[in-house]
Amino acid sequence: MRLPKVWREIPQKYRLEGAICKNCNFSFFPPRTVCPNCGSRELHSQSFSHRGKVLSYTNIKKPSSDFETYAPYPVALVELLGGTNVICQLTDCDADEIFIGMPVEAVLRRLKEDGEAGIVYYAIKFRPLIRTEFLTKK
Ligand SMILES: [Zn+2]
Repeated sequence: MRLPKVWREIPQKYRLEGAICKNCNFSFFPPRTVCPNCGSRELHSQSFSHRGKVLSYTNIKKPSSDFETYAPYPVALVELLGGTNVICQLTDCDADEIFIGMPVEAVLRRLKEDGEAGIVYYAIKFRPLIRTEFLTKK
């Protein structure tokens, strides 16, 4: 029996395994077969840091139909330690607690369910690295 693709990808997602281009040194997550910066196929896999900071964020109130039941939810552009940027949902915090520069860490969390097939999808989300009430919002 073959596991669904989404389940087979969990270890890769949990390790934040992306790629670095051998041609232009651009790093990205999730991995692709072609560098989105220069088009090269000369890539090597790389596990990125699970920690970073929020560069920008928004609160999704009108998502696609797949995610309507989960709205509203925050999505952020996160800069990982080392400089790679990823776009992910934020979790374990209220929208009004989020701020630019907030330190975050990656966790594997339920993303959505497929009701008919009964498949639960998991994905990396980011949560505040420390309780936000201890941070000075600037
Ligand atoms: Zn490249």
